[in-house]
Amino acid sequence: MKDWLRSIPAVHELQNHAQFATLSKEMDIDFTELTKQLKDVIEKIRISILNDYWNGAIPGTEQFICEIFQEVKKNAVKQMDYTLKRVINATGTILHTNLGRARLSDKAVAHVAEAAQNYTNLEYKLEEGERGSRHTHVETLIKELTGAESAMIVNNNAAAVYLVLRALAAEKEVIVSRGQLVEIGGSFRISSIMEESGAKLVEVGTTNKTHLYDYEQAINSETAMVMKVHTSNFKVVGFTESVETDELIKFTRRLENVIFYEDLGSGALYDFRKHGIGEEPVVREIIEAGVDLVTFSGDKLLGGPQAGIIAGKKKLIDRLKKHQLARVVRVDKMTLAALEGTLIDYVRGDKGVRNIPVIRDLLHSEEELEKRSSFFASKILEITDHYEIKIIHGMSQVGGGTMPEVQLPTVLISLKHNRLSSEHLAKKLRTENKPAIIARIQKDQYLLDLRTVSLDEEELLLQALLKL
Ligand SMILES: *Cc1c(COP(=O)(O)O)cnc(C)c1O
Repeated sequence: MKDWLRSIPAVHELQNHAQFATLSKEMDIDFTELTKQLKDVIEKIRISILNDYWNGAIPGTEQFICEIFQEVKKNAVKQMDYTLKRVINATGTILHTNLGRARLSDKAVAHVAEAAQNYTNLEYKLEEGERGSRHTHVETLIKELTGAESAMIVNNNAAAVYLVLRALAAEKEVIVSRGQLVEIGGSFRISSIMEESGAKLVEVGTTNKTHLYDYEQAINSETAMVMKVHTSNFKVVGFTESVETDELIKFTRRLENVIFYEDLGSGALYDFRKHGIGEEPVVREIIEAGVDLVTFSGDKLLGGPQAGIIAGKKKLIDRLKKHQLARVVRVDKMTLAALEGTLIDYVRGDKGVRNIPVIRDLLHSEEELEKRSSFFASKILEITDHYEIKIIHGMSQVGGGTMPEVQLPTVLISLKHNRLSSEHLAKKLRTENKPAIIARIQKDQYLLDLRTVSLDEEELLLQALLKL
């Protein structure tokens, strides 16, 4: 055993080995770090010899050196690999929450990179040469796009809801219809956020029906707010009745000191209805109807970064901006840059918004997808006969808990590999390919929906399929 242990090369010998220098350069890791890994690997080999894992068949020094370098390299590669990885989303679900919701536009990405790499006027007024506020940056754009008097940006929509309730309704009562007390995305519940905020939830009506008189009866001197919540991923169908935003606005306007606040959830800035997609009103309509405050997400239908947008009456937004909690939920310069880079395209109008991946992907037509899918299939078949391919019609979903009732007609490429089961194929493409590919599996068919695959990703997808 002693002889065997002696055949393990010493750390200092390996440090001076040419392979060590090459590895250090290749991995861009310094001497100290690599030495640490070298020691770890050698220690492991020593222990394996002591425990006789080698069954007496111990290799010679030269072979050890080889093994050690392979192992060090493997460890270094693993350690230097990001855990947050790029993924190709071939599921067709546009706002896939597990896959990071919205992808940013080129313009937004460029603006983020510039803001991240440089100093910015984040809180500085260039005209006056004085301290400014980070709230000013995106506010003008939001005001222009929604018609709101004032706006502010926070970390996400959950934070926006919390700030609004905490700052404007703590210790007071907030009236919400029972039909709107749903759980969103498995972790967001209005009732829980309300409790955390210190506001008292007053539930009115029933799950399927709430009338104006239900609200009227609940109003008292403790009422701070009437809140409407978008039911997002949940739709009550059948014998239902709810009070429209317009009516609630008229009703709360007659009352002194009662705020009408609507949590829009996704909050569209683009009118998808004109393409026959969903029934989501645009934020501007709600603001123009006279709502006091609205909140919505930055990374749902808007197509920007994770953020919460609060828009509405200036005197209320001013109170929110001044609240201590605003500091807790504030966004950084990269979020503001991403949001500004996204919103700029909305200002450009119909042509501009097509630069925003979420909107572009939502608007892809079935004909367009059919053409792309057939061409993609023909390219596979040209090169390999490993796959049995069918082009079938199906549906894509918007996802992210938005427009749950909307089914977007799409075209799917159904693949059957001649050796691999669809589960096995899916696993290989998920774990062995870079970038990882996520698609759908249905009854032993591997289904690709090109709706959420950009043109440059198509090439990567093709290469991955041909490699197998
Ligand atoms: C999605 C959603 C939220 C939470 O928004 P995040 O941006 O994910 O924090 C809150 N309210 C409604 C109605 C939603 O749909």
